[in-house]
Amino acid sequence: MSIDWPVIHIEALDVLRHYLRIDTSNPPGHEAVAARYLGGLLAAEGIECEFIETAPGREAVVARLRGDGSRGGALMLANHIDTVPADATGWTAPPFGAVVRDGRVYGRGAVDMKGTGVMHLFAMLLAKRQEVPLGRDIVFLAAPDEELGSGWGVEWLTRERPDLFEGVAFAFNEGASGVPEFAGRPAHIFEVAVSEKELAPLRIVATGVAGHGSKPARDSATVRLLDALDRLRRWRREITYTPETRAYLRRLHGAGLLDDLDDPAAVEAAIGASPDTVAAFTNTLNVTVLRAGGQSNVIPGRAEALVDCRLLPGQSRETWVAEVAAVIDDPLVQVSLEYSTSAPVAVSPWDTEVTRVITEVLTETFEDAIVLPSSSIVGTDNRFLRPLGIPAYGFIPCLLSQEERDGFHAHDEFLTLENLNIGLEVMYEVARRLCEVQPSIER
Ligand SMILES: [Zn+2]
Repeated sequence: MSIDWPVIHIEALDVLRHYLRIDTSNPPGHEAVAARYLGGLLAAEGIECEFIETAPGREAVVARLRGDGSRGGALMLANHIDTVPADATGWTAPPFGAVVRDGRVYGRGAVDMKGTGVMHLFAMLLAKRQEVPLGRDIVFLAAPDEELGSGWGVEWLTRERPDLFEGVAFAFNEGASGVPEFAGRPAHIFEVAVSEKELAPLRIVATGVAGHGSKPARDSATVRLLDALDRLRRWRREITYTPETRAYLRRLHGAGLLDDLDDPAAVEAAIGASPDTVAAFTNTLNVTVLRAGGQSNVIPGRAEALVDCRLLPGQSRETWVAEVAAVIDDPLVQVSLEYSTSAPVAVSPWDTEVTRVITEVLTETFEDAIVLPSSSIVGTDNRFLRPLGIPAYGFIPCLLSQEERDGFHAHDEFLTLENLNIGLEVMYEVARRLCEVQPSIER
């Protein structure tokens, strides 16, 4: 029996709107209500579900559709329930209203990542309804607390409930999507994230002479810090060439989206067309915290900035600190890592049946689809799965426009209904081909 997709599109939109209306802003998260909602939909169709409380009011929901194991370990469809908070004053639609307008559904979490959560949910529901004979388990995991570091989410689960991840052969989560254009040229470029950029947050401290605010400062820490930050602002950081970014550029060139690979200015201009692309090709730097002084009539002896920096995989944090210090070039300004906790970023293999199936389904859906490995420009829960040896992929099967991608953590977050529908169909088809007893590619 074939799937009546127009009916599924309407049903899924209804579920997404309900899900968006459940406020899971983190802090405090309070994900249990939403976990129960998702789990209730699965349980109603006879799928076994478990609710796992990680903290009061905070729950994950795990569901499993069993296969006979003939195709190996499970496919895990993992997503997060929580969202960042929303300040309604900046929105034209209520952040928890799930308003549908102009072919879009607006709401906190629409792209990050309740929309993808609903695609995962329907991949599982449809596999059950269609009675797909499964050669491996499909596991659905909706987790709390991703937006504040996952200490009550996937990190907690990998520590306290390692059984959930045993036998998982590969996992999907957020981290990369498709885009409908490159540097102004229409295209269907789908990134699948195999790794993530590495955090290298910096603390920059300027020291000077403290004194009375009435007299011209001889050596002001605040001014020294501003000078240092201004040098960073004017620092032109070029494309960071790694084996991954080079391969990415060659693929774009091969697809006719980049004219001349040997013209650095042209390559930079094309990449510069989108902040997301710039972030994918460079080590980034944003001044996020400034601290100095306590009252206006005292010149402080110390001024500090915290800087969010994210490095492409394989880049050395120590080299980065040295580079930044060299640009600032002031012995009274110290540059150090604010913290250094995470181990080097693990990378999932590219040449697997997962990426082959993704590529196959996407090229059937979009004739000119380009499917590329990438590094997620943000942190995701995949970082807890990769060290367990689970190949984990950032895969949002939608063509997110720049405006849609700008909605992550911002005002007027939305997902187009067209993207919801594409995502539902592609996610189901990818899951089916990966999990069905007799793989369709061999039929
Ligand atoms: Zn997210």
